[in-house]
Amino acid sequence: MIVGIKGTVPFILNLTKDITNHWREIFAPAAQIFLNSTVITPKGNCMKTLDWRNHHQRIDTVNGILNSEVLEDISNSKIEYCYSDDLSWLPDYFNLELFTEKFLENFKAIKCFHACSPIRIESYLSDGFTGGNHEKNIELFKNIFSDIPQYNLEQAIKEHTTREDEFYKTFFCCDSKVLINQDGNYLIYGSEFLSSLTTRLHHQKLSNENYKQRLKGLGIPTIIEANIDFSLLDNYQINSLIKNSLADWGNYHLFSTDFKPSEMSIITKQKLLPSVIVNHWHPEKIYDPYNSSWYIPEQTRCFACKEL
Ligand SMILES: [Zn+2]
Repeated sequence: MIVGIKGTVPFILNLTKDITNHWREIFAPAAQIFLNSTVITPKGNCMKTLDWRNHHQRIDTVNGILNSEVLEDISNSKIEYCYSDDLSWLPDYFNLELFTEKFLENFKAIKCFHACSPIRIESYLSDGFTGGNHEKNIELFKNIFSDIPQYNLEQAIKEHTTREDEFYKTFFCCDSKVLINQDGNYLIYGSEFLSSLTTRLHHQKLSNENYKQRLKGLGIPTIIEANIDFSLLDNYQINSLIKNSLADWGNYHLFSTDFKPSEMSIITKQKLLPSVIVNHWHPEKIYDPYNSSWYIPEQTRCFACKEL
């Protein structure tokens, strides 16, 4: 008997009154080949926040869903690596849709970190993540480069186009260390939009000045920690989380000597309420990828910190 996902045939039979026809279609064949004796937690109970920094949390979760026969079958198949973008290393009987449903029963939200350099962090704390706020950034851009002819500024603005569906997008990383020790540009130079306008101005070759350096120190480098509910993520993001969790699980068990947990980022495409924010802080030392050096911010406290 091939067994893949823990659960029970009795569980399926006992709950047939409660599950939808859709679930019956998935579980009926799966009950014979996939499920064993773990009690499935009803949706909404004991749901945690997925913290990607703790790879043991997701590996334990996958361990709780897939039984040992899956691991045995993978081990016997002599695969070279468990890839997240190609799950062909999993057995043919593995059901991704069923696995995804069961994985998400464990978690309500995912912990994420946003890097920025706000002049006033209060806007985040009172309004949440409101997207690019391009008008405000264009005003700021014009102020920072008020010595440059208006025509050149308008040219740089004109060259930058944003798709409408990306207007509210916010970039998060699931490990703040990446944003501080690797991709520190968001903390040091601020928003990608402002940075992009500045790059376009630089490409006009008006002088030898490195315009990007003017963006340094405008705000306070800030990491904002947020717990993002899974209902706010699109299918692409959820698929990516699931597939990377599976790959980490496989590589952790089969290639433990070289195991390196995957990195994960999240892009939300809608406004997020301030209630998603659970913390914020200001790093004291940040890696500057544009200069390949470390940057020490002048300020590491803000108004909101002082109230804490
Ligand atoms: Zn602060």
